Amino acid sequence: MAMLSRKAKPLTLEEGEKILERDRYKCQYCGLDGLATFENSLIMSVDFVTPRARRGRKDPQNLVAACRPCNVIKGSRVFSSLDEAKNFVLNKRAELRKKWENKTGTLQTRSAKA
Ligand SMILES: [Zn+2]
Repeated sequence: MAMLSRKAKPLTLEEGEKILERDRYKCQYCGLDGLATFENSLIMSVDFVTPRARRGRKDPQNLVAACRPCNVIKGSRVFSSLDEAKNFVLNKRAELRKKWENKTGTLQTRSAKA
């Protein structure tokens, strides 16, 4: 296998725990507190800031605690810094929230009329 195409190995459970503990189980994108409730704890994950698919390394400097929704929103995009990634994720979340508010607003209006 060529060196260039080699992906970093996925994190072991232990390695993931270390990152979550370092970041105190707080999503580094939206700030969700993984220690606040059991449900929150279930959606915590570790994000490769530069994705594994883009040859991001398994290095603590490239790893952050992230809730799964933020992790999914970020996807395999590449950013020049964690701040840039954070801006993208937060903007996307705001966009999704607007859509959701419009949709639920419409549905609630409809069901009120029915
Ligand atoms: Zn989050």
